[in-house]
Amino acid sequence: MNNFYVSTRDKQVHLTSKEAILKGISDDGGLFVWPDLADVKIDLNRVCQNNYKENAVYILSKLLHDFTKEELEQCVNNAYTDTFASKDITPVRKVGDIYVLELFHGPTSAFKDVALTLLPQLMSVALEKTDQKALILTATSGDTGKAALNGFKDVKNIGIEVFYPDQKVSQMQYRQMASQTGNNLKVLAIKGNFDDAQSKVKELFLDKDLNEFAAEHNVMLTSANSINIGRLVPQIVYYFESYKYLVNHDVIKMNDPVCFSVPTGNFGDVLAGYYAYLMGLPVKKFYVASNANHVLTDFLTTGIYDRNRDFIQTISPSMDILISSNLERLLYYMSNQDTEFVKQCMDDLNQKGKYQIPAQMLEKIQSLFGCGYIDDEATKQVIKETYDSNSVILDPHSAIAYKVAKDACEDVIVSLATASPYKFPQDVLDALGIGSTSEFDAMNKLAEICSDPIPGNLAALQTSKIIHKDVISVKEMEESVKDMVEKFV
Ligand SMILES: *Cc1c(COP(=O)(O)O)cnc(C)c1O
Repeated sequence: MNNFYVSTRDKQVHLTSKEAILKGISDDGGLFVWPDLADVKIDLNRVCQNNYKENAVYILSKLLHDFTKEELEQCVNNAYTDTFASKDITPVRKVGDIYVLELFHGPTSAFKDVALTLLPQLMSVALEKTDQKALILTATSGDTGKAALNGFKDVKNIGIEVFYPDQKVSQMQYRQMASQTGNNLKVLAIKGNFDDAQSKVKELFLDKDLNEFAAEHNVMLTSANSINIGRLVPQIVYYFESYKYLVNHDVIKMNDPVCFSVPTGNFGDVLAGYYAYLMGLPVKKFYVASNANHVLTDFLTTGIYDRNRDFIQTISPSMDILISSNLERLLYYMSNQDTEFVKQCMDDLNQKGKYQIPAQMLEKIQSLFGCGYIDDEATKQVIKETYDSNSVILDPHSAIAYKVAKDACEDVIVSLATASPYKFPQDVLDALGIGSTSEFDAMNKLAEICSDPIPGNLAALQTSKIIHKDVISVKEMEESVKDMVEKFV
């Protein structure tokens, strides 16, 4: 076993985990992966006796080899002490026959918090031995932006710049980001959609001149998106945690396989589940749940990934994505680490907007990954039905996974809930047939029927001041990054 990370597009690239976390993306455009992942075996008995933080340290130590145990303990403690509203961090709630894994009890009420409370800690430790500073560039479809801003706010030697698609995030998401305080950050709306923002950010990471400019100022550019391995690794933990719940509540016996349904956009969340599977979590199937932008459903059904289609704006904006970056990592493992093959697929995607995988590989993927999608109307129906039958209110993203989980008709299935319904109050109320005059009116009305109270961070938005108002074109992003590099040093 070696402990180096390589690029999905070039196995000659060798980095330690600290280097990979600081770098974010490989110079060849590939993502960092660890070839020997499947050789790791997590002891399930131990997982079922540990608490969340202990499991996080245990699992992270298997993947981040150049962090000491003390460093990981410190990172995990800083990330998860008094930051989540639930003592279990990611509690499970049985809704009908489905086990809903609630990932949204963190500081910004979205599942991104699980990783983005921890990533700044990992990055700070990784930076310690260098004399460098890091500037995080983040493209967001809505939730990553706020969770990253919250996580990186005023962290020493790290700055952050967030780009979100103008008018294409929810009111709540907009207010969360536009009101962010802190001395090391910039928030900008982009004329375009999420894919435009993400593609440009990836391009900027690979831009030689820009990187040299940053290096002259002793700054390295890096990512807080799920292309960063440091973002992905913390998400593996809650898959094991949900398994612990099922064993400890006698739903299953140790080593029984279970299924997961995952609301998917960039393929980061479900990929973390696949990593858990490679590390020994007994999984029968992962269901990849999508909205009307069902590029992944089509891929998993036909083997053809084709982004040449209209981008549809839905009520589940964090899944409005046509280029699912982390699928690249799945291709790497499913092709037996054939970096040439992955590079060819990604070149095709760049140049033609599509690629096709061989039938054999598709079969292999299909044996572990199911899929399904629903549109906005069906999503609203699910929200209504779940409320009527179970008195539980799901947010639109979680509702999509819930529906796909239900349709799968599996014995034991865990459905991931990725956002609080209070983040999308108007659409949720609308689904329940209740009118509202504004997002905050909706939030307060929702509180009257929802068993959970309004999360403090969202309630506070009613009176928070809008600080960040700039809207720029994709072209202007580079200039804005340069400006940030100069200001931040
Ligand atoms: C980011 C996000 C998703 C999609 O997760 P990926 O890792 O991008 O697949 C789903 N739901 C919510 C609420 C999110 O914020």
